[in-house]
Amino acid sequence: MFRELILTVADNPLVSSTVKRYGLQMGAGRFVAGEHLTDAVAVARQLQQEGIGVTLDHLGEGVRDAASAEGACQSYLDLLEALDHEHLPGNVSVKLTMMGLAVDSTLGFHNTRRVVERATAMQGPDGPTGFVRIDMEDTPYTSDTIAVYRRLADEWSPDRVGLVLQAYLYRTRDDLAALSDRPRRLRFVKGAYQEPAERAYPSKADVDANYVRLVEQAVEAGHHVAVATHDEVILRDLLQYFRRIRLPRDRYEFQMLYGIKLSVLRELARAGHATRVYVPYGEDWYAYFSRRLAERPANILFFGRALFRR
Ligand SMILES: Cc1cc2nc3c(=O)[nH]c(=O)nc-3n(C[C@H](O)[C@H](O)[C@H](O)COP(=O)(O)OP(=O)(O)OC[C@H]3O[C@@H](n4cnc5c(N)ncnc54)[C@H](O)[C@@H]3O)c2cc1C
Repeated sequence: MFRELILTVADNPLVSSTVKRYGLQMGAGRFVAGEHLTDAVAVARQLQQEGIGVTLDHLGEGVRDAASAEGACQSYLDLLEALDHEHLPGNVSVKLTMMGLAVDSTLGFHNTRRVVERATAMQGPDGPTGFVRIDMEDTPYTSDTIAVYRRLADEWSPDRVGLVLQAYLYRTRDDLAALSDRPRRLRFVKGAYQEPAERAYPSKADVDANYVRLVEQAVEAGHHVAVATHDEVILRDLLQYFRRIRLPRDRYEFQMLYGIKLSVLRELARAGHATRVYVPYGEDWYAYFSRRLAERPANILFFGRALFRR
């Protein structure tokens, strides 16, 4: 209910123009590394020095024409170039609607393929460092996203291209079963979009239970799992499960979003678990920021107060 309300309000043109004008200084900067590539690279370098990996996301989605999709693709090629130049791993997260999927699925595929091609060319002292994680968006794109992911993982390698699966969707269990024909790299999230009850569990308890079930199903199927949640109950339960079955540490990692519970991730890193922060940057931060606000009532209060003071 809360998420639905906030995401609907966020769509209002007056709200969006006001927040876009003041938002980054008023609190959105907590969740976004900055508007420029250099901001993202600086955060990546700092986290890397702490022994925490990053995946960089150049913000943008819902691209509606081929020229904008080309620009988005080029921005990722520039990002990978910059990471290569800085000797940082080329680990990026990509939204397919930014690559043009909503314009034409072939265009979305080809632009994403160019990003994967550039990333897979990146080498560190210990071998390839490039990796492209395909984010999962709302349900009109779920099937196409899985199809594009499959083609790219088949062409390059499932070690170099990964996918995100959302625990709030009923279909994910079957999607995971279908994807279990070979070991893959899968990130599990609860899901951040507004979805109807015909497609997604409306209750948080059901989403949480499904999350744990899906991760266990993925581990049993031999996948590498990225546990991407800030939910400390789920983290505790899954850590216990990993220990109980003696899952090797190179079979999983913990991921969190920039600006949320970094102290918990640091603790996991200190305990020797692989960890990664999802670092978004770019001028097109509004939709991403709205989803972060919609996740937590306290964020709205904090942001509202800062905006009001301004
Ligand atoms: C690395 C990563 C990648 C992601 N990629 C995708 C994707 O591709 N597609 C997609 O649909 N979703 C994605 N998400 C978002 C995800 O679906 C959830 O919306 C988000 O992670 C919040 O859910 P949660 O698992 O933390 O659990 P929740 O039950 O929502 O939160 C657990 C606790 O975490 C803290 N918390 C959670 N969110 C916030 C917040 N916004 N601000 C402050 N504290 C917060 C609170 O303390 C809360 O009690 C991603 C999340 C992560 C961590």
